[in-house]
Amino acid sequence: MKQKKMLSLTLSQLKNLYQQDFPELVEIATQSLSANEFKDRLSNLLTEQKTASSAISEQIRILIDFDGKCIHELSTGQDIEIQTIGLLWHFLKDSLEQTDMRTDLFIDLYEMLSAWKQVKKRENLFSREELEKACNRWPTGLDPEVRAIRESNKERILHVLIQRIENRKSKIPGRFRFEEGLSYDEKYQIVQDWWNDFRFHLSMAIKTPSELNKFLGQSLSPKTMYMLSYAKKKGMPFFATPYYLSLLNISQEGYDDEAIRSYILYSPELIETYGSIKAWEKEDVVEPGKPNAAGWLLPDGHNIHRRYPEVAILIPDTMGRACGGLCASCQRMYDFQSERLNFEFESLRPKESWEHKLNRLMTYFEEDTQLRDILITGGDALMSQNKTLKHILDAVCRMALRKQKANAERPDGEKFAELQRIRLGSRLPAYLPMRINDELVEILRTFKEKASAAGIKQFVVQTHFQTPLEVTPEAEEAIRKIVSAGWLITNQLVYNVASSRRGHTTKLRQILNRLGVVCYYTFSVKGFDENQAVFTPNSRSLQEQHEEKIFGYMTDEQAKELYRLLETGCNTAENIQTFMKKHQLPFLATDRSVLNLPAIGKSMTFQLIGLTPNGKRILQFEHDGTRRHSPIIDQMGEVYIQENKSLAAYLRQLIQMGEDPEDYATIWQYRQGETESRFSLFDYPDFNFESTDKISNLEVGSLSNH
Ligand code: SF4
Repeated sequence: MKQKKMLSLTLSQLKNLYQQDFPELVEIATQSLSANEFKDRLSNLLTEQKTASSAISEQIRILIDFDGKCIHELSTGQDIEIQTIGLLWHFLKDSLEQTDMRTDLFIDLYEMLSAWKQVKKRENLFSREELEKACNRWPTGLDPEVRAIRESNKERILHVLIQRIENRKSKIPGRFRFEEGLSYDEKYQIVQDWWNDFRFHLSMAIKTPSELNKFLGQSLSPKTMYMLSYAKKKGMPFFATPYYLSLLNISQEGYDDEAIRSYILYSPELIETYGSIKAWEKEDVVEPGKPNAAGWLLPDGHNIHRRYPEVAILIPDTMGRACGGLCASCQRMYDFQSERLNFEFESLRPKESWEHKLNRLMTYFEEDTQLRDILITGGDALMSQNKTLKHILDAVCRMALRKQKANAERPDGEKFAELQRIRLGSRLPAYLPMRINDELVEILRTFKEKASAAGIKQFVVQTHFQTPLEVTPEAEEAIRKIVSAGWLITNQLVYNVASSRRGHTTKLRQILNRLGVVCYYTFSVKGFDENQAVFTPNSRSLQEQHEEKIFGYMTDEQAKELYRLLETGCNTAENIQTFMKKHQLPFLATDRSVLNLPAIGKSMTFQLIGLTPNGKRILQFEHDGTRRHSPIIDQMGEVYIQENKSLAAYLRQLIQMGEDPEDYATIWQYRQGETESRFSLFDYPDFNFESTDKISNLEVGSLSNH
């Protein structure tokens, strides 16, 4: 049966299908007097059916084993009783038509049983040609048709900007004001010039629903306007620059902008939940003097986040606590809610006390035995002004030198890890590429020269392009400039529904690779309710990994060759292009698809252990065994996560977006995942000394303390 039809069946139609395809299963369900008896009989049936798939027999046994058990769901902290097989028994035995039971659970189980009985053989896996076809559906921001639409968007927005400046001219401080006596054409010319200045976009950023609608040619629906007004009433910030809004397509013709639109316009679920959003990453909840959920002791002040031994995140008390836009699925929404991150630029200017604090934070890195990697982010690291950023980078450089010098006094085996990698986390190459100005590039270039002498070897701008539509001529120029400073650009994207459509991520990888950007992570959206609308089930990530990303996989030899080419940071874009051509690779599959799990970090190693009554999968995760973790990991039991959307609901959403669910029909079979290995470029280089095993700043007590 076609997926579309299957997704629209009623409960009784679905039951008829079970009767037709699995009569023996229906028979044992009808004969069983209890769920336990049904489970026993089902177990026997699994043993008897010699021709059935043994892997799926094993999967069904896992569902049987977990049935009736209570698990602790880590993201919500709730205990859930699993009753997958018990519900199947009810469904097959009784009539559930009068209940509010949905079909999603039984569709997923039907797909599993079909595969078990090998009722329907699926033509697995996309071919390279099919992938190419799917990929070609997605235009990039460099395509002439897309550029033409954006030019006319820009023109419309320039007129709105003129009005806005005129209406507010007496109140706007600073540079973006019209002098008296200018003609309209002169004003138009001036605003056109200002368009190339990132400060203009920040000062003209859109913060209210009515302004947004004006900038989007009054194209927002009454429902969207209602929801955005509700969000405003709830105190939820909104922030979008004129540049970013010019990337949306407000006409009925031309490109599908859902990947951009759903990234800045909030879903009803997000708005509803705002105010009671919990921290997904438990390590982000820090109480003074107490270790965080991963056991790390941190300096006071919410500036350092840490999960792993080697790396810590630095969030400065600067403009870097803001962003160039507010992403609807931001993993730091909890921090925006608590206003630690915000868009009040005046209040974010560094205070005098920041200087002292920065020194204290650098001392933390300096005196830590294991830290060798600093990720400066926010918010957005490049939202900090050039002067402020330079100041922070200089402090990092001095700290790296001090760490190196102190090591000279320590014997081998007792030496501390020295700083090897610095990363700046920024989505501005996508949100506001004009921010990458010459002065910034010079700061990056000079820092690299100085910091190389202090032992730092890896200089990375970790950016976030979500869709090929964000790769505009302006973004291309920003990328070119960063790469010219000898910094590597890595990309991580959030695998939300719009970007999970067949071929979309492949196209993004292709265009970014061509410009010299290497992909790093493809993150599953976290499973909390606020992200319900944009959540893509992890099985789709696995499907993408096995059926699409696979075409960009490299052999070990090829990976080593690429590593050597990229290591120096010279001619990155040209080197990648030549390499891809030589090995006939359509793109470089250097990114890992992972879910950022509360407390245990990034992983895609999981097993399906149950389904909720509305068909959401419950997964048992293991941490990524290929990297070092805090020793607290040894104390953690199994990690269970309930996804926040059923596969059926996801496929229905894709249908709404115009996708053919048949193209995704193999999604059901991905019930088990394994974390991909890391591309060697993202490994730490070896030290030329023996470092200590001692771990400082760690207090691993009982987990019940957290
Ligand atoms: S740029 Fe990053 S921190 Fe800022 S809103 Fe987007 S995801 Fe969140």
